[in-house]
Amino acid sequence: MVARTMSFVTVGVDARLVTVEADVGAGLPGIKIVGLADTAISEARDRVRAAASHSDVEWPRTRITIALLPAGLPKRGAVLDAAIAVAILAASDQVPAGAAAGTVIAGELGLDGTIHATRGVIAAALTARRQGIARMLVPEANVAEARLVPGIDVGGVSTLAHLIAVLRGDRTPGDGDLAPLADDPGAAPDLVDVHGQDEARRALEIAAAGAHHLAMTGPPGVGKTLLAERLPGLLPDLSDEEAVEVTVIRSVAGRGAGALVRRPPFEAPHHSASPVAVVGGGQSGRVHVGAVTLAHRGVLFMDEAPEFPRSVLEALRQPLESGSIRIARSDLAVLLPARFHLVIAANPCPCGRGSGPRAGVECSCSSLQRRRYSARLSGPILDRLDIRLTLSRPSLADLGTPSEGSASVAPRVAEARNRARRRWESASLPWATNGEVPGPLLRRRFPPEPDAGALLRQALASGALSLRGADRVLRIGWTLADLAGRDRPGADDIGYAMSLRGVESAWAA
Ligand SMILES: [Zn+2]
Repeated sequence: MVARTMSFVTVGVDARLVTVEADVGAGLPGIKIVGLADTAISEARDRVRAAASHSDVEWPRTRITIALLPAGLPKRGAVLDAAIAVAILAASDQVPAGAAAGTVIAGELGLDGTIHATRGVIAAALTARRQGIARMLVPEANVAEARLVPGIDVGGVSTLAHLIAVLRGDRTPGDGDLAPLADDPGAAPDLVDVHGQDEARRALEIAAAGAHHLAMTGPPGVGKTLLAERLPGLLPDLSDEEAVEVTVIRSVAGRGAGALVRRPPFEAPHHSASPVAVVGGGQSGRVHVGAVTLAHRGVLFMDEAPEFPRSVLEALRQPLESGSIRIARSDLAVLLPARFHLVIAANPCPCGRGSGPRAGVECSCSSLQRRRYSARLSGPILDRLDIRLTLSRPSLADLGTPSEGSASVAPRVAEARNRARRRWESASLPWATNGEVPGPLLRRRFPPEPDAGALLRQALASGALSLRGADRVLRIGWTLADLAGRDRPGADDIGYAMSLRGVESAWAA
């Protein structure tokens, strides 16, 4: 007899439903699994049989064939265990075939029949709902996560015996851990902790308001990391749609998900991390989600950016352009979301001592070394960084002045973002933030005040700005106007934007 049920595998950050079909027929006892299964799934034979022996069911002593469909989709891991057990039991008349066929079942089996938590359950719930499936039975530890998707009936099961009883209608599914699952990443780092550095604090606010990518250079210990870590705290909460995207990514990456992630994430990969850890990748079907995807809808911070491998810096070009990254392997190509707010930090030179009040005194780098160091960023990403700051150590007097906290800066950021959103909406343009708007369009349709325009043309004529640089300056100018509640950027805004662009400084371009 043949029976079937459903489960899922994750591909990138998507879940694909898998039909698990069991054929229990005459022949020598044994289980055969067909349909591009990896070793972990092949080993499901042993786990399923051992789990069944603890679950008070009669294991069929005949030939069993399991087919995993669609056959061409590579399947990895142990998430199909519980569904394989249910398909076999339905095919041997121990579980109602109708109940098995209409349910998506997820979970890895322990040898004693325990059903263990698994990754990607929220992604599976989204796919199941899209395909009109009414019911899911998942490990109890994953119930809260799956229930983030409304419109599908989600029950929790703790053991194979429990799962069987629920499908027979003898027991009710569990709710799992009903402790409140607040998304509580702890208190976000606050700007109040950054003393002095008024210009950098202001630049961070502008970057947050316009979603401008940001570069900071300055000697070690000057506060670049401290500042970068405080950017997420200035950004508004994620929208409902963004929150689901980010929660799905965390679930698929095995970073835990029980509550909807409401705050923009912050990812800070180290320059010694592998390219796969930063941009994503992996081998043979199993896609590893990299930091660029974990930072989706949040902040990607790269400290000592010139130290990252050239291949990693080059790979950033695509997500900066399109908001996604394509992972292509021999058996699979997936597109992973990667729309992040980039913040990079760099020392002024390889030895790190080459600027500040004692500039050059202790620095041992040759001018060639210095040029090579800054050139590492120039091609791929430097041009995409709207704001380029040069930081120096704060004076003792600065350190004594109390700083404004994130709680008073964030509302200004939110207000400026609202102004920008309304502007792009009323012009029927698809962008939400100034950082996304293409320069040529801005130049044509959203010029600054006439005197500000004259300033830009002057900088172009003198060669202080390239055309692309001028577009970036205009873009920052719009954010400054939004922050100040002005209808369009004036000469002061453009002048200030030029200084934020690093015109006439180490970053000049
Ligand atoms: Zn140096």
